[in-house]
Amino acid sequence: MPYAYDTTNIFARILTGEIPCNKVAENEHALAFNDIQPQAPHHVLVIPKGAYVDAAHFARDASDAEILGFTRLVAEVCARLKVMPGEDGAGFRAITNAGGDGVQEVPHYHLHILAGRPLGRMLL
Ligand code: 5GP
Repeated sequence: MPYAYDTTNIFARILTGEIPCNKVAENEHALAFNDIQPQAPHHVLVIPKGAYVDAAHFARDASDAEILGFTRLVAEVCARLKVMPGEDGAGFRAITNAGGDGVQEVPHYHLHILAGRPLGRMLL
């Protein structure tokens, strides 16, 4: 199935520098920045630099290098936030929304990293 990527979406404009962001970390293939409406003490969005609409699009079409770069940036964000799971109870939640049923607001793939408070069970 072909994906139609909207080049004017907010995260595409953050990637070009047209819209500012509060950067947390970056590598060749991905960018991490604070969510503008945080739902937890730490709420970071990790996005690929490539034009991918959602997680399924990214998983299907991104190169191995892009997937590795994105995944490693998630680890770097967790290390910087000091939320790597450990004996002190630290941890985080990583979620992604996709499509209409997933209530995805911005059509550029992003992973939400939420941390800094007990997050409770996810209610589905
Ligand atoms: P979604 O519902 O697509 O998974 O989540 C989109 C997220 O992007 C929301 O949590 C929202 O607060 C965040 N967001 C929307 N516009 C901006 C923006 O201009 N800057 C930043 N940093 N986050 C944004």
